[in-house]
Amino acid sequence: MTYVFNPAPTAAVPVVGSTDRFPVHRIYCVGRNYAEHAQEMGHTGREPPFFFMKPADAVVVVDAGLTVTLPYPSLTRNLHHEIELVVAIGTGGQAIPVGQALGHVFGYAVGLDMTRRDLQNEMKQQGRPWCIGKGFDHSAPIGPITPTAAVPAIMTADISLKVNNKLRQQSQISQLIWSVAETIAQLSNAWTLQPGDLIYTGTPAGVGSVVSGDVLSGSITGLTPIALQVR
Ligand code: MN
Repeated sequence: MTYVFNPAPTAAVPVVGSTDRFPVHRIYCVGRNYAEHAQEMGHTGREPPFFFMKPADAVVVVDAGLTVTLPYPSLTRNLHHEIELVVAIGTGGQAIPVGQALGHVFGYAVGLDMTRRDLQNEMKQQGRPWCIGKGFDHSAPIGPITPTAAVPAIMTADISLKVNNKLRQQSQISQLIWSVAETIAQLSNAWTLQPGDLIYTGTPAGVGSVVSGDVLSGSITGLTPIALQVR
């Protein structure tokens, strides 16, 4: 079988300790999953988790030790950073019980859920989909994936983001409203999870805008940090 044109290449993320790469299938994202961030976005309390998606080719691979260019996207005047723990699914499944969910995880990475906040807010006000605010080109930077066995303390890790070396976001993974296991279980009730799926688990408080020239530095204890410069 041949195609009428060459299919797009598969987005793929480096894996710590391996020369093989992790092929990306889908990108799921969790909304408002840290209490203080939910509050800064005008919400309170523990609501059921909700999800949105980004296209797989929105991934921007950030190799270890490099500062990668992040193009400033079109249409927006308010590009926001959201530092997030990314869960990389290695074994798929449907209706996965919470108690078995972590067995489906291949590894973890540091990611950014870049957001055209002005467009997202317009869509919210009009009750329209968030795609244009969340699912644009280059909206999903991610660092190398560390296999689970190498990060046994991930659930108590610190997560932080600096912009131009100034601290903007800082929290702990233990502060997630919906844990990694609960998120996987809930997602798998709505979609069949597949090997290669990435889950951006939500951002702590302190989201804010970046402009051309800004350098973003994201880190989570035990994972490879990421650095990007907005162009
Ligand atoms: Mn987010």
